[in-house]
Amino acid sequence: MNYRHSFHAGNPADVMKHAALARVLAYLNKKENAYRVLDTHAGAGLYDLDGANAQRTLEADSGIEAVLAADLAGTLPKPAAALLAPYLDAVRATRAGGRRLYPGSPALALALSRPQDRFLFCELHKEERAKLEKRVGEDPRVKILPQDGWQGIAAHLPPRERRGLVLVDPPFEEPGEFQRLVAGLEAAYQRFATGIIMLWYPIKDLKAVDAFRRDVARLGLPKTLRVELDFATVRSLDVLSGSGLIIVNPPFTLADEMRTILNALAPLLARDGQGRARVSWLTPGG
Ligand code: SAM
Repeated sequence: MNYRHSFHAGNPADVMKHAALARVLAYLNKKENAYRVLDTHAGAGLYDLDGANAQRTLEADSGIEAVLAADLAGTLPKPAAALLAPYLDAVRATRAGGRRLYPGSPALALALSRPQDRFLFCELHKEERAKLEKRVGEDPRVKILPQDGWQGIAAHLPPRERRGLVLVDPPFEEPGEFQRLVAGLEAAYQRFATGIIMLWYPIKDLKAVDAFRRDVARLGLPKTLRVELDFATVRSLDVLSGSGLIIVNPPFTLADEMRTILNALAPLLARDGQGRARVSWLTPGG
């Protein structure tokens, strides 16, 4: 387990994933009833973009920094800026102390939810988990588990609240991660068929991504949305050229919202200024 998200925090893939997470939570917040978020691969929770790891890659410069700058300059199309506002406000709020911090999925989810909502964060890496404990562990809504996220799916679903989100965001450092994602999705759906289930995947090897999409579609789960953003031309199987999300049971507004957001962000996040967004249904939904 060598993966450290601090090298990648706030990069274009994070922006896309966290923009979607923020829209899902905005939807869940519309009903008073409590919900639960299970984040199976939670990471360290909050990242310092001026820290050594982030400074080594500078990945956030073409991600969140580019988006914040465009928002400040007023150059984002208005509908996209309005949809992104809760996410970008949460990022700006982490910087109130003056450091250039970036909220990972746990800190972002906590910032965008209510006192009645509950959170389970699985993180297997000891040092990352210790950071997560320090950064969000004191929040009474949170339970941090030293548990394999794939086992967490079986152990913690369905949640008592019977509404909520399962976020599955593995590091893709071991072979077989696409297959584990498909199996994880099937297991999550079997236990929590009414939940919103969101999976993240990298776009590097296009054949592997095609096979993954086909495997997800073959599960035949109703309402499976595919959201993808290319931010570079594929040149090598080792370089991230795009980022994808599968969302089962998305809020009915999400497909249109992600189209609006990603069409606005694609030129900003793409290395050649020509990013491309794809939002479509793998199985019928909208
Ligand atoms: N979801 C986070 C976010 O958006 O801010 C980023 C998570 S990062 C991509 C993946 C994390 O999963 C790493 O911190 C890694 O240590 C952890 N991890 C790897 N294998 C795991 C497993 N089987 N169960 C739980 N956590 C795992």
